[in-house]
Amino acid sequence: PARGTVVLQAHQVTKRFGGLIANNAVDLTVRAGEILALIGPNGAGKSTFFNMISGVDDPTAGEVRLMGQAMTGKPSREFAALGLSRSFQHVRLLGQRTVLENVAVGAHRRAQRGWLASMLRQDRAEEAAVLAEARRQMERCGLAAHAGTPAASLALGQQRIVEIARALASQPAVLLLDEPAAGLRHLEKQALAKLLDQLRSQGLGILVVEHDMEFVMNLADRITVLEFGTVIAEGTPAEVQGNQRVLDAYLGG
Ligand code: ADP
Ligand code: MG
Repeated sequence: PARGTVVLQAHQVTKRFGGLIANNAVDLTVRAGEILALIGPNGAGKSTFFNMISGVDDPTAGEVRLMGQAMTGKPSREFAALGLSRSFQHVRLLGQRTVLENVAVGAHRRAQRGWLASMLRQDRAEEAAVLAEARRQMERCGLAAHAGTPAASLALGQQRIVEIARALASQPAVLLLDEPAAGLRHLEKQALAKLLDQLRSQGLGILVVEHDMEFVMNLADRITVLEFGTVIAEGTPAEVQGNQRVLDAYLGG
């Protein structure tokens, strides 16, 4: 999609768990070529919102639109087919498998074939295409030198980048990242930010859920702040940073 196109839109997305309102009428728009951040204290409803907008779970009310299509009630594989790819809060790699194999999993998802079937090389032409795509994404993410390394033996910062490469291998228009900077060292955060900046300039729409304020302030075009499931602020990093309600939420005030 062309830069500026709305790729993902949440309209009044609400999620209740019994009496608890985990997301309360959340509005949010992601455009191609921008990085939007969703921040908020623990328990604010960030992961819940991610589940709503990636089809992992259904909103109690409200609507999610992906590439202009209403997604209510659709399974997560249809979100993926329309160009949405996500990472999870905790690293989900096949640790004993190589970086190449892990990234190839993402390309298989696009090919809509079972991972195991393709690993068994039941279809050599498809296997070659999948591996070529995986290598292309590893190159894009600076992982080419690690193709044969077992994923688990990489540092956490590089494992996160492997997850991003795997997500990119499905050729998404929208990338959702759940706390990609969590637990990373300073230099690893810088490398991650550089990669995300590069992906943005290549036209990807990126929504990042993040706990690390400094990381987000330096990276995002716009920020939406959640507290107890409700949007309490949105705007540029400068606008959000100076917002008293945001400061109070973070200081527990
Ligand atoms: P965050 O990711 O911002 O830390 P979550 O979305 O994980 O927040 O959680 C928001 C709120 O919803 C929390 O109070 C949490 O306990 C609750 N919650 C999340 N998932 C469930 C669930 N499956 N069942 C019941 N409550 C849940
Ligand atoms: Mg979370």
